Amino acid sequence: MGFNRFAQRCSNSAVGLLLLAIATLALMVLSVSGCASPTKSSDDSRLKVVATTTQIGDFAKAVGGDAVQVRTLLPAGASAHHFDPTQADMIALADADVLLTNGLGLDDFVNDAVEASGFHGKKVVTTGGVVPDGSNPHVWTAPVLAGQMVENIEVALAEADPKNAAAFEENAIGYQAKLQILDQWIATSISTVPSEARLFVSGHDALKYYLEAYDIEFVGSVLHSFEDNAEPTVAEMDELIAHMNELGVKAIFVESSINPKTAEAIAKGSGAKLIDESVIYVDSLGAEGSGASTYITATIHNTKTILEAWGYSVTAVPGELK
Ligand SMILES: [Zn+2]
Repeated sequence: MGFNRFAQRCSNSAVGLLLLAIATLALMVLSVSGCASPTKSSDDSRLKVVATTTQIGDFAKAVGGDAVQVRTLLPAGASAHHFDPTQADMIALADADVLLTNGLGLDDFVNDAVEASGFHGKKVVTTGGVVPDGSNPHVWTAPVLAGQMVENIEVALAEADPKNAAAFEENAIGYQAKLQILDQWIATSISTVPSEARLFVSGHDALKYYLEAYDIEFVGSVLHSFEDNAEPTVAEMDELIAHMNELGVKAIFVESSINPKTAEAIAKGSGAKLIDESVIYVDSLGAEGSGASTYITATIHNTKTILEAWGYSVTAVPGELK
């Protein structure tokens, strides 16, 4: 295969000249510009969707089905508050029709990449209208709110690809029905726990909407901000330990994205059990094979982990969610 073919497929004549002159460098230019990459499947006319978080990527796959290609920027098991895009991410952004973000300051990291990549599609904030501006960004943690994000995703995909709008609607309705079943299952399971025993301490304040939905008291978090490196002061740790002792908190939950060292110190000081052998998935879903690689399986896992740490068990998981 000659370089002339690439040059013909690439509309930029300057790049074409460079191709003929310096072959190796030209290949690099091609891959950066996203212009007629030889490995790209040019007959794939499906809508190209880029999602920032693993949860939004999962929702987009559920709604888009076979009609869309979804690329997720954040890796499994990572914090959702920091991200360094790879060159492949930049190429995907340059090529994307739709970019689905969380908004509320969570994934502002994508802004520079959007600008640098030459992204020319439509950027959609999936939490738009779900919670007020300035709210805690971890909106997806309550299945009912996740269902509203799914609605926003459906609208965005239908606008970008009207010929598949009916399929997106059908997929969204089916997925939202599952989220309702998930919500009911969590509510039923947690209703077996006396309200005074529903006490929650986590790495960062990431489960706000889940806790509110199921009447669980947020006692405090190891980190006081959403900055991954924001270590608490000794006074802050002592205050949290005192508060935990006062309420009789039994367990600290450490998210998959949090370094557990500080949590260990607080667990030691308070006598609470550190739940780190079976982390909860909050900022991101688990990797393939973790049993928590989808929003539904991760939320089931979290609910089981929380109830077991309190000394309770969940009710049987409905067949629709398996
Ligand atoms: Zn977070």
